[in-house]
Amino acid sequence: MSFNFIAEQVAQQKEKSQYRQRQCISEQNGREVVVAGKRYLNFSSNDYLGLNHHPLINKALQEGVDKYGSCASASSLITGFHYAHQALEDEVCQWLNKPRCLLYSSGFAANSGVLQALGKKDCQFILDKLSHASLIDGALASEASVKRYLHNDHQQLEQHLAKSLFENKLIISEGVFSMDGNRADVTQLINIAKQQQAMLYMDDAHSIGIVGHTGQGSSSFGQVDIVMATFGKALATSGAFIACDEDVYDYLVNFSRHYIYSTAISPAVAWATKASIKLVQNESWRRDHIIELSALLSTKLDSQITIIPSSSSIHAIVIGSEKRTLEICQYLKNRGIWLTAIRPPTVAKNSSRLRVTITASHKESDINYLADCLNEVLG
Ligand SMILES: *Cc1c(COP(=O)(O)O)cnc(C)c1O
Repeated sequence: MSFNFIAEQVAQQKEKSQYRQRQCISEQNGREVVVAGKRYLNFSSNDYLGLNHHPLINKALQEGVDKYGSCASASSLITGFHYAHQALEDEVCQWLNKPRCLLYSSGFAANSGVLQALGKKDCQFILDKLSHASLIDGALASEASVKRYLHNDHQQLEQHLAKSLFENKLIISEGVFSMDGNRADVTQLINIAKQQQAMLYMDDAHSIGIVGHTGQGSSSFGQVDIVMATFGKALATSGAFIACDEDVYDYLVNFSRHYIYSTAISPAVAWATKASIKLVQNESWRRDHIIELSALLSTKLDSQITIIPSSSSIHAIVIGSEKRTLEICQYLKNRGIWLTAIRPPTVAKNSSRLRVTITASHKESDINYLADCLNEVLG
């Protein structure tokens, strides 16, 4: 029989403790999830600012549906680009101080779509080693030459750039790294790009809403050539944007296949996202609360437990083996804590980990309880 690999590969996943299954969530907010009738404290949510269920976002979503309907009815270049999309693009441009913005249906589509369009034969993409799957896939699907530099090793990045014979060089990094929670030095990246006459592309999936006085992410450090961020994490809706200059914008509208041949995001969601951005800009207490609770977790954990240093919502505790990580997660689950094990290939071999996300809707007592349980199981 053909396609034998299907069953074989699934069986192998199970053997390697890398088998993945979904869990049906019956109820959730930034703080808790209900799974199979049981309530857990949730430390695996990407709703970093606790905005899911926010009454103003819900109201805007409703209003958006009433005004513009539930769907865009077409791709953006046909008749799918509505007033709600335009208003959201304008809002993002002002927020990030960029001339242009373009909406994609997801962050994955945006990264893949932009890199595929920009990656011509005479281009080189130079990516941080810890780049997200969508950046890697987009880069590899393009005609560009692809190089990686060691995580946050800007010296190696400079060496690659200095040696490069390509006319068009694009540096690609995340603002906050998804599985480690640490940041790139954006100021330095901006300077390197300038000196080496390269362009800089920042994936702000985990920085948007979290980094900067108004949550504007990497753009708070200066002018980044191209910024991608998702609406599906701190902004609590869905879809994504690319912020860039006029030329890149025009080029993408004409050549980015993921943009051209895909239905525009729901205008109602765009309208809700605009409301979410207002909240994100104005309610800096949400960012402050994450920082306070993160500091609390560090002080409460026993000294032999190492967290990767982070100034974001993401706090990674590297365990190593898949099996041990799953055991720890099961222990925490029995204690009423939901923490999804992160395993290869999402992270490097032997670096399976607990990825704790602290959100603005957690309470001090939640962090104390989490720390007590982690001290028990890891101590
Ligand atoms: C989540 C994520 C994406 C994808 O965004 P979606 O809108 O969820 O598709 C892209 N890059 C990084 C770093 C992410 O963490």
